[in-house]
Amino acid sequence: MAAPKKAMVPNGEAPDPAEVELGFVEPAAPARLLSSQFPSKVGGRPAWLSLQLPDPERLLCAGCARPMVFLLQVYAPRGPAFHRTLLVFCCAAPACPRRRFAAFRSQLGRINDFYPAEPEPESEAVPGPRPGLRLCRVCGASGPKSCSRCRWAHYCGKEHQSLDWRAGHREACGQLGEAAGSLSSPNILFPEFELVMELENSEDQKPENLARVESLSAAESDCVTEDIDEQELEAMARHELREDRIFAKFKRRIALAPDQVLRYCRGGSPLWVSGENIPSETDIPNCSCGAKREFEFQVMPQLLNHLKVDCLDESLDWGTLSVYTCEQSCDHSNLYSAEFLWKQDFSPDQL
Ligand SMILES: [Zn+2]
Ligand SMILES: [Zn+2]
Ligand SMILES: [Zn+2]
Ligand SMILES: [Zn+2]
Repeated sequence: MAAPKKAMVPNGEAPDPAEVELGFVEPAAPARLLSSQFPSKVGGRPAWLSLQLPDPERLLCAGCARPMVFLLQVYAPRGPAFHRTLLVFCCAAPACPRRRFAAFRSQLGRINDFYPAEPEPESEAVPGPRPGLRLCRVCGASGPKSCSRCRWAHYCGKEHQSLDWRAGHREACGQLGEAAGSLSSPNILFPEFELVMELENSEDQKPENLARVESLSAAESDCVTEDIDEQELEAMARHELREDRIFAKFKRRIALAPDQVLRYCRGGSPLWVSGENIPSETDIPNCSCGAKREFEFQVMPQLLNHLKVDCLDESLDWGTLSVYTCEQSCDHSNLYSAEFLWKQDFSPDQL
C-alpha cells in the first residue's frame, strides 16, 4: 500500500452513479458456505473457487512474515467470467508493525476443472475438504507441508504446524480417531458468517435514524477549542468543515442500514469515512494485464464488531477497506490474481 497522501480530486464528495448492494452478516449452515455453493462469506476458512490454490508465500504478511488470515469473500460473477470470487485476507497477528491486507480474484468458466456446469444442490453438498486437496489444518490455505510423523496433517508452513502441535496435535498425532479431514483446534480464524447481499434503499431499510444522526453531527461541529489564534482557527475550521462534511455523509448514508458490513458498487465510488488518505487515480496501480483497476466494493468498520477483534488484537482496525479490481476481469485461467486494496482509517478526531 502506498504512503498516506491527500487526494488530488475530492471524490469523497462525488455522487454515487450506480446502485449499491449492501452486505449483511447472517449465521449460516456450513453446507451453504462450501466452495460448490459459490458463497459470499465472512471468516472461517476460505471457500476457494479455483482449487489450484495460491502458494502460501503469497499469503504472508509483509510486516511480520506470518500467514494472513481469511477475512471475507464476495461471489460476484459480473463481467465475462461465469464464476468470479474476490477474497480478502489480513494479518491478525498481535502488534504487527505493518499489518498487511490483500485481495485476490479467481474466475472460472461454466465448463471448468472443478465444478459441474449445473449447480450442485445444497442438500448434496458434502462438508469437509475435497479429496486430494491438501489444506492447512489451521487456516484452510494451501498445505504443501505435512507432519513428518503421521503424514496426514497438512500445513501452509512452520508457523501453523507448530501452533497445531502445541494446541493438541502432539497428543493426537498418529492416533486413531482423529480423521484426516478433521479440523484443527487452535482457533485463529475469524467467526464464520454468510454474507447476504441486498440493494440499498430496499423496503426494510428505513431512514428512521436519519434525523438523529444529522443532529448528532451538527452538535459535534459546534465544539471549538480555546487558546488558538484566529488564523489557525480559520484553517482548522475549513479543514474540519470538509472532514465533517465527508464524515456526516458517511454517517447519513449508513444510517439507512446501520448493520451493513460491505458496500458493493462496481465502477462506482467508495463512501469515505474521512477526507484524509483518499487515493488519487495514480495511487491505484493498473492490473498486471495493463488494464485500469476500478472500485468494486468496500468493507465497512461495522464488520469489526462481528470479528471479536478485542480478543485477537485491538490494533486490527480500519475506517474502510476499498477493493479495486481489473476493469477487464482479465483471465488467469485457474490462478488467483492479486487485486488492490486501499485502507482508510478514521481521522483521530472521529474516534
Ligand atoms: Zn503482520
Ligand atoms: Zn495455515
Ligand atoms: Zn502428525
Ligand atoms: Zn487485468
